[in-house]
Amino acid sequence: MLSPLVDTHAHLDDERFQADLPQVLERARAAGVLSTIAIATTAATSASCIALAAAHAELFASVGIQPNHVAQEAADAWDSVVRLVTSPKVVAIGETGLDRHWHDTPFAQQEDYFARHLVLARKHKLAVVIHCREAEADTVRMLREDFDKHGPVKAVMHSFTGDWTTAESCLAMGLYISFAGMVTYKNAQALRDVAAKVPLERLLVETDSPYLAPVPVRGKRNEPAYVVHTAACLAGVLRLGLDVLAENTTRNARGLFGIQA
Ligand SMILES: [Zn+2]
Repeated sequence: MLSPLVDTHAHLDDERFQADLPQVLERARAAGVLSTIAIATTAATSASCIALAAAHAELFASVGIQPNHVAQEAADAWDSVVRLVTSPKVVAIGETGLDRHWHDTPFAQQEDYFARHLVLARKHKLAVVIHCREAEADTVRMLREDFDKHGPVKAVMHSFTGDWTTAESCLAMGLYISFAGMVTYKNAQALRDVAAKVPLERLLVETDSPYLAPVPVRGKRNEPAYVVHTAACLAGVLRLGLDVLAENTTRNARGLFGIQA
């Protein structure tokens, strides 16, 4: 029997899961995905993720505000996140980070919130889930400033799409690198070349459901069961058996998030 997998990043509060979440979770179980972390993007979805984790044994939750959502949040949203962080089964802070692709939130405000998430994570000894889109240099700069002041922080670069220089900088600070469906895409050879160099003890897998389903289910709504396809792709890239890849990424997820998968 294959070692269980952990989907370390899924937006299960998304309305696309409203009708059939029990079946989605059943398919995940059948595929060997024994735990999934429901990732928040706003104060409201932080509460939703906590509620999902309370309702389903295999789910855990993050709390935080995704950079593109910061500007639209109410003035008391951050206070809500801070209040929710001690709820049962909260295992991560985020997703947070920096995004220069969209312009929904002024960059200085994104930096402010990224810094707040790092402080909150250190205070509660929780892992930080980092979103980085077209802002690699700034993300590494902020992480390095934090690292130089406070030492390593428990964190993962989620749905990593950067180059090896970025990966190397993050690995040097003790971060994990998580790959999502994009690494399976035909045109993503450069990303697979980066993945091939990530040490097995720092590697994580995720779906980022419902977005960007991996090959061979590309184009469908993504769901936690499909993390198997990303894991299989990475096993091929790393020239390992899927069982070895699963065993190691699950051990990493347990260590980073402190969960019993
Ligand atoms: Zn996400």
